[in-house]
Amino acid sequence: MNPIASYIADIGAVPWSMDPSIIRRKSRDHFVISPLLRGELAGNLADIVVSPRSREEVARAVGTAVRHRIPITPRGGGTANYGQSVPLQGGVLLDMVDYKGVLSIDDGLIRANAGTIMADMQTAAQARGWELRLYPSTLATSTIAGFVAGGSGGIGSAMWGMLRDRGNIAAIEVMSAEESPRLMELTGYDIELVHHAYGANAIITEVAMPLAPAWRWRECIVAFAEFADALRFGARLVRETGVLKKLASVHEWPIPRLMRDLGDIVPEGHSMVNCIVAANCAPSFDALVAQHAGKVVSNHAQGENPFGAPQHEFAYGHGLRQMQKTEPRYTGFQGMFRGDGMFEAIAAVRAGASREEPFRLEIFWSDGEIVAMGSPQIRFDGETRMREMVALIQNAGGAVANSHTTGVREVGIKRITSRDVDFKGVMDPHGLLNPGKLNLDGVKASALATSGWTFAARA
Ligand SMILES: Cc1cc2nc3c(=O)[nH]c(=O)nc-3n(C[C@H](O)[C@H](O)[C@H](O)COP(=O)(O)OP(=O)(O)OC[C@H]3O[C@@H](n4cnc5c(N)ncnc54)[C@H](O)[C@@H]3O)c2cc1C
Repeated sequence: MNPIASYIADIGAVPWSMDPSIIRRKSRDHFVISPLLRGELAGNLADIVVSPRSREEVARAVGTAVRHRIPITPRGGGTANYGQSVPLQGGVLLDMVDYKGVLSIDDGLIRANAGTIMADMQTAAQARGWELRLYPSTLATSTIAGFVAGGSGGIGSAMWGMLRDRGNIAAIEVMSAEESPRLMELTGYDIELVHHAYGANAIITEVAMPLAPAWRWRECIVAFAEFADALRFGARLVRETGVLKKLASVHEWPIPRLMRDLGDIVPEGHSMVNCIVAANCAPSFDALVAQHAGKVVSNHAQGENPFGAPQHEFAYGHGLRQMQKTEPRYTGFQGMFRGDGMFEAIAAVRAGASREEPFRLEIFWSDGEIVAMGSPQIRFDGETRMREMVALIQNAGGAVANSHTTGVREVGIKRITSRDVDFKGVMDPHGLLNPGKLNLDGVKASALATSGWTFAARA
């Protein structure tokens, strides 16, 4: 019997499918957003999709795959944008979305099963007067485990920092990929082992996250005649610790027009900052806007704007998506600007980019300092301009994570140390988890070489 037939015979009642259309759909994520990954990852398919509904079924699906030495690629909502959840060596696609449910909301802490959609966690928390501190712009479709394993931050980072910042993930329960899988609860510094590791060293079964009190939020767009004023305003808004905000997303002209669902709300030639600010901070926010020569051109209660999507779907990964609706060739880079020279570095990059390459930046806290993440957005017409743009950012003093490759190390958001090597050896002794992503003994070739992001040392 071939290994997959034996596997099916051994997993008992765990739901599975070999329907080619389901396999095709579940073997993809949103990697097509990258012009380089589009060709590189097309055609990678799992052999079988397995959809456990309980921890016991996850253990059965994983343990059986290990006994048959079949690769396992975990998947949540499939919204990753570097092909993190694409199976590079076939095998089992472990579809976690039916292993869902909020387990507890207690004393400002929410705990949920891995496959819980984050929007469902938000609804459950809000019903109790709390809300998620952090969520990706894919709130509506991504799972909590997928966010922890594949994401880095998002809405709320303007207040609370990145997902990796100490305190933003309370605990992660993981399962080993062994013939008899074991569970382990990770807290504190150990959380870093699994965060942004693409499920290549453990299966996440539960996540606990601290919550924030639920506020009434306003979705505001502020227009600026000068990009530099928009940028300074965004950074100042984030720095103002007394003004509650979830988003400060800076977009240089003509991005406001390229995001066609915004219509002509932003005046010709103006840059904009998309903000989500607590309603009770409106007077301080308005004063800050006036101080930076801005003009509020849109101001609605959260979820009630007229643009066909919540305002967070015009920021982070969704910002590029909105631009691609108008010009599909647009692509960008995950530049990171931090420290005293942040504004000068961004100005230097801007001086080296054409006005046809407008800047898009998310401003938030990381490691206790204000950072700006993003880059000029370019129309893809080959790798040369992409390489030039990476060099431009790096030469100006910025760092770049590679959002056009699939390897944990090559992307350069997670730091890999000897602890990661040891953990992988213990949790995945046969090297079956998401193979090809966490290459501990080498670097995968990528068309785009980058430096990766830098963070303060932890240990
Ligand atoms: C338009 C767009 C906007 C985005 N905006 C943001 C943003 O604001 N912030 C951000 O950080 N990211 C963002 N992303 C990336 C992505 O949406 C997020 O990282 C998201 O949270 C992933 O969740 P998911 O459930 O879809 O995970 P998936 O895509 O299914 O998986 C992501 C990774 O996690 C692994 N994984 C999934 N479940 C498990 C599990 N149970 N155990 C172990 N590993 C697991 C997968 O193997 C994969 O490597 C965006 C992507 C797109 C396309």
